[in-house]
Amino acid sequence: MQPTTEPRNAILVEKTPLETYVPPAKPSLIGLSRTELADRLGEIGVAPAQRKMRVQQLWHWLYFRGAQNFDEMTSISKGIRAELAQHFTVDRPEVVAEQISNDGTRKWLLRLPSGDNVQKAHEVECVYIPETDRGTLCVSSQVGCTLNCSFCHTGTQRLVRNLTAGEIVGQVMVARDRLNDWADREDGTRRVTNIVMMGMGEPLYNFDAVRDALLIVGDNEGIGISRRRITLSTSGVVPNIVRAGEEIGVMLAISLHAVRDELRNELVPLNRKYPIKELLQACRDYPGASNARRITFEYVMLKGVNDSLDDAKLLVKMLKGIPAKINLIPFNPWPGTAYECSDWDQIEKFSEYVFNAGYSSPVRTPRGRDILAACGQLKSETEKLSARERQALRAMAMTD
Ligand code: SAH
Ligand code: SF4
Repeated sequence: MQPTTEPRNAILVEKTPLETYVPPAKPSLIGLSRTELADRLGEIGVAPAQRKMRVQQLWHWLYFRGAQNFDEMTSISKGIRAELAQHFTVDRPEVVAEQISNDGTRKWLLRLPSGDNVQKAHEVECVYIPETDRGTLCVSSQVGCTLNCSFCHTGTQRLVRNLTAGEIVGQVMVARDRLNDWADREDGTRRVTNIVMMGMGEPLYNFDAVRDALLIVGDNEGIGISRRRITLSTSGVVPNIVRAGEEIGVMLAISLHAVRDELRNELVPLNRKYPIKELLQACRDYPGASNARRITFEYVMLKGVNDSLDDAKLLVKMLKGIPAKINLIPFNPWPGTAYECSDWDQIEKFSEYVFNAGYSSPVRTPRGRDILAACGQLKSETEKLSARERQALRAMAMTD
C-alpha cells in the first residue's frame, strides 16, 4: 500500500484497480440477527411455523461451519436453498490483497460497496496477529476515522463511512476462511481466538453496528468467541462507554496516552469534549469491571512527549480504585509523522515504575511493521481516490 514497503511483501491476491469495482448484485445474509434472518425467510415464502428451525439451520451453516454458498447447506431443503440463492448471497467483503509480514502477521485489504454511489468502492484493513498461545484479529469499525489523533495514521484519512454489522462480522469470516479456521478443522484448534476492535475507526461512533456484529461474533452457537476474548478500544466516547458494557459486555480498552488534559487535548482531540476526569468516571462505572476483568489503558510511548517518570507517577495515581492494567505501545511510525518512538530503556523504566506500583504493564511487541499492519498504521487507499476526486472537482471548478 505504501510505496516504501511494497517490494518486501507477499501480495497474494492480484489487486484490481478501485475504479473497476463491480458491486454485489444481491444482498448478503452475513451480519443479520436471528430475527432479521426470520424476516428474510418470510420474504421468500417460508411459513411462520418453520422459520425458527430454518433460522437455526442457517445460523449453524453461516456462523459455525462458515458455508460459502447455499449448496453446502445440505440440511436445508433444496427448494429453500434455491430460493435463498435467487435472492441473497453469503458473501463476505471482497479480499483484494493479502500481505504476510516477516513475523507471520497477515493483513487483508478488503473492498466494500461505497453505500451511496454503487459504482464506487471503499477499502478497509483487517490484521491477524498469531502468537504462541492465541491468535488475535484486529478488526476495523469505520472506513477512516473522524477523530484525528495526532499520532495515528488512520486519523489522517478522512472518514468515508461507518461499516455495517455484516462488514464487521465479515472481517472475522474472511480471516476464518483464509486461515482455514472453521469448525471442521481436523485438529479442532482455533487460529482466531481473540478479537480486538482496534483497526480503523472509532467503534463507539458506530455503536449499533459494532454491537450487533459483536453479539454475532460472541454467539456460542456460531462463531463462538467468548466476550472475555473480545476487546473494544475507544479513544474515549464517554456517553457510549457504559452502554457498551451493558449492551455488548466485552472487555474495554481506553486509549489514554496522556495524564494531563493539556497534552491529551493535543494527542487525542476528543479529550476537549470528554476530558480525563469524565473518562475515568465512565471507567469506574463500567459494568462488570473487576480484578478478574480489568480495563486496559493503552499508552503510546512518544519520545519526549509523554514518557517521563513524572507521567508514570501521575498515571498510577489517577488510576487508583479502577481495576486496571496498562498496555504500553511503542509508537509505530508512518510516513510523514513528526513523532518518534521513546527509547527502549525509557520504555522499560516507565514500565518498571508502573509494575512496581502494582499494575500489570506489558509492552506491546510491535507486529507487522514491515507491512504497515501495526497499531495506528492502517490507512486505506480510499483517501487517495478521494484526493483524486477532489483534484478533479477543483479542475472542474476552475474550468467553470
Ligand atoms: N479508535 C480506537 C481504536 C483503534 S486505534 C482507539 O483509538 O482506541 C487502536 C490503538 O492504537 C489505540 O490505542 C491507538 O491510540 C493506538 N495507535 C494509534 N496510532 C498509533 C501509532 N502510530 N503507534 C502506536 N499506537 C497507535
Ligand atoms: Fe481514530 Fe483511534 Fe486513530 Fe484516534 S487513534 S484517529 S480514534 S483510529
